Amino acid sequence: MDERSRRREDDWFLQNEKKLLEEARKAREKREAERRAREGQGERAKLKEQHWMKCPKCGHDLKVETLEGIEIDRCTFCEGFFVDAGELDALFLKKGVGQRQSFMRRLLGI
Ligand SMILES: [Zn+2]
Repeated sequence: MDERSRRREDDWFLQNEKKLLEEARKAREKREAERRAREGQGERAKLKEQHWMKCPKCGHDLKVETLEGIEIDRCTFCEGFFVDAGELDALFLKKGVGQRQSFMRRLLGI
């Protein structure tokens, strides 16, 4: 792909970003509602109690950090991180390029 068509593609994504993210959010909520309908409430409560704010990789506690107004849950042991559905949408919709870069630097600790 040449530079011009790449730039055209970037412009298209910038112009349609809000719409694309909104569609992704709706599709995500629909999938979650379908999963809820399939699974019993007792099972959901049990799983939440066992795994709430625990690292999916090593099982240690997760701690909430707020970077540029976006909440991430970072493992207190392996330093892996988890982002709730929709949190990164907020970063792309509400923040400028500088804040996105700042978020990434702080996320990576550089
Ligand atoms: Zn961990």
